[in-house]
Amino acid sequence: MEYLVVGSGLFGAVFANEAAKRGNHVTVIEKRDHIGGNIYTKPIEGIQVHMYGAHIFHTRSKKIWDYVNQFAQFNNYINSPIANYHGEIYNLPFNMNTFNKLWGVITPAQAQAKIEEQRAELNLMKPPKNLEEQAKSLVGTDVYKKLIKGYTEKQWGAKATELPAFIIRRIPVRFTYDNNYFNDPYQGIPIGGYTQIIEQLLDNKLIDVRTETDFFADRANYLKDYPRVVFTGMIDQFFDYELGELSYRSLRFETEIKDVDNYQATRS
Ligand SMILES: Cc1cc2nc3c(=O)[nH]c(=O)nc-3n(C[C@H](O)[C@H](O)[C@H](O)COP(=O)(O)OP(=O)(O)OC[C@H]3O[C@@H](n4cnc5c(N)ncnc54)[C@H](O)[C@@H]3O)c2cc1C
Repeated sequence: MEYLVVGSGLFGAVFANEAAKRGNHVTVIEKRDHIGGNIYTKPIEGIQVHMYGAHIFHTRSKKIWDYVNQFAQFNNYINSPIANYHGEIYNLPFNMNTFNKLWGVITPAQAQAKIEEQRAELNLMKPPKNLEEQAKSLVGTDVYKKLIKGYTEKQWGAKATELPAFIIRRIPVRFTYDNNYFNDPYQGIPIGGYTQIIEQLLDNKLIDVRTETDFFADRANYLKDYPRVVFTGMIDQFFDYELGELSYRSLRFETEIKDVDNYQATRS
């Protein structure tokens, strides 16, 4: 069988690898000038820079963990983010460390009581009609104001009062002193970056990789020439925006090189 895979990110590369292992010929086309999709990493100044944002590999499946460990050695990184609210540092996801810093509470019962007190003040009679009301109804006013509002409005490019309530159905809150962002038992970042994983996945003589090649530049011919197409790009674009444009959350990266040993104190 002949396959066309559009996109050389983690999904496209794993698919191509597995298809080739089963004797299929796979052409991978990638519109960027490099493989790897959003997990692409590149060494700059001795640091593996995650060019499209930091990526932590995490899974609850031992099978997936063993699979990915064939291609790289992982470090023991545990994602424990911190939020900087006008110079005040808070632990995320919301947990007892966060609540202690916010209110000075020490026990789970005290933290729960504080959240309940703030929810009660809201006088919740009707279902929340926007994201702001929804978030406040889940975690109270302080957590919303300091740790949800700014982040959410920046990512969505819209006011929280203009965003629909359903975006936040639940907000994970932990009543333990646990800063680990993920619940998965397997977690880490590959030493030497992610690109090596993609390179190895695509390293098969049955796989032909073409970068700087956009599917939409020659879509009709691709669909004619390949009996099976795996598309990993934007799904609304694939359907010619027939049902309108999806509202993607987006990020703008501004890069800077600082002449310091450790700027953010995330890891030595
Ligand atoms: C800032 C950020 C941080 C993240 N952090 C994490 C994390 O810590 N842990 C985690 O598990 N996940 C994380 N994710 C999610 C993770 O990046 C994705 O789930 C994963 O990389 C998706 O892989 P993919 O192969 O499906 O898509 P992508 O990596 O997006 O690959 C799709 C590829 O298709 C190409 N393409 C698109 N359209 C075309 C076209 N028309 N023609 C040719 N090529 C095309 C693109 O250029 C791209 O290379 C994060 C995502 C972002 C944005």
